[in-house]
Amino acid sequence: MSRTRFVCGNWKLHKTVAESLELATAIKNAVGPLRDVEVAIAPVFTALHAVAKRLEGSSLGVAGQDCFWEDQGAWTGEVSAKLLKDVGCKYVIIGHSERRQHFTETDHAVNLKTKAALRNGLLPIVCVGETEKERDAGETFGRIETQLEGGLRELSNDDMLKVTLAYEPVWAIGTGRTATPAQAEEVHAYIRSRLSDKFGSVAEKVRIQYGGSVKPDNAALLLGQTDIDGALVGGASLKAEDFLNIIKAR
Ligand code: PEP
Repeated sequence: MSRTRFVCGNWKLHKTVAESLELATAIKNAVGPLRDVEVAIAPVFTALHAVAKRLEGSSLGVAGQDCFWEDQGAWTGEVSAKLLKDVGCKYVIIGHSERRQHFTETDHAVNLKTKAALRNGLLPIVCVGETEKERDAGETFGRIETQLEGGLRELSNDDMLKVTLAYEPVWAIGTGRTATPAQAEEVHAYIRSRLSDKFGSVAEKVRIQYGGSVKPDNAALLLGQTDIDGALVGGASLKAEDFLNIIKAR
């Protein structure tokens, strides 16, 4: 089964509108037409509209870094999937470990947000991953299974075809420590086997990104693994040259 590689840059809480436009434009100009890889960038909420406009007609997609599960209402401070769609987003990252860790986001919230994204025509990138403590305690697979069960609850096979998963071991995010290709592949293969139990043959079509200190010099080996179908890139996506080298890594 061939799955089109998917690389998404998560800019986290970085860059003003002007700085975001500068970086997005540099990536757009350098990347040209894309054939065998799908690419998206996830700027801060306040830059989404301007960046989406700048990238119109290009092969780069725009992603929100989070969304709320209701479409509208008395929810001060929230941004809904409906509004992300309105400003030109195609994707939304859901359940990033920084949201789980600092904003107590639960698997139930991830599930509601994933459904809201799908309901509004956005393609969700659902993040899962274990902490260092969980890995050391031999709980990696159990943790991932719980996150998949909770986060993907009540999704249909058709829904699942629109979802990308991102395996991001928490101990590798922003730390410079990367999972070895073998460590990452072991968990990716596990995720695909759980998806196969839940969604049958659809599992072969679902893309599973790896995230956690992906850099130009380790991308080719990681992305060369059987069940690694792309990358969710934090730090290295803030430099156009590094991000481009990850996109092109072979
Ligand atoms: C991320 O933010 O999802 C991430 C993987 O960050 P980094 O690449 O910096 O580890």
